[in-house]
Amino acid sequence: MRVPDTVNGVLEELTRGFGAPRLTVELLPSSTWGSNLRSALRVSHWDKLRRGAYAAANYRCEICGGVGHQYRVACHERWEFDDAQSCQRLVGLIALCPACHDVKHFGRANENGRGPDATLHLCEVNDWSIGDANRYLELHFALWKLRTRKEWCLDLTWLAQFGIVPKARDHSSSSTSTRGG
Ligand SMILES: [Zn+2]
Repeated sequence: MRVPDTVNGVLEELTRGFGAPRLTVELLPSSTWGSNLRSALRVSHWDKLRRGAYAAANYRCEICGGVGHQYRVACHERWEFDDAQSCQRLVGLIALCPACHDVKHFGRANENGRGPDATLHLCEVNDWSIGDANRYLELHFALWKLRTRKEWCLDLTWLAQFGIVPKARDHSSSSTSTRGG
């Protein structure tokens, strides 16, 4: 099946084919330093935020209700993408079980050999066939490639309500990842 070659085209195809699925994939453009909040914040600030998210979710996954074996839930950053302005905006945090978290960062999970499990979990939560999941992933990787061509700004003003200011940018640790989240 054809994959559109513009961001809007891919987004339209995703909406047309899949609507608003319960569990989504979120591949972050490569240029967004600090989109891993853990590395952009003081440890004490990150701990305060993530523990608040776990407690608010009653230590269960906010998408599928499950929990992990080694750890129950992880804290995941929710982003909105303004493609016209090339700005990636933090809009909140969510507690996720390891299986849902792997789906969000499918590229990383796949690199670590967990792609097949993540695909199955995506199917299970959304009630999709493997074919549905593969098409959905194909479109998301196309979207990631298109977004990664641009330099993105990062808007972390969501943190201000907690009195939290990110650390100054450290160029030595800036990410050059190409794995698509
Ligand atoms: Zn889950």
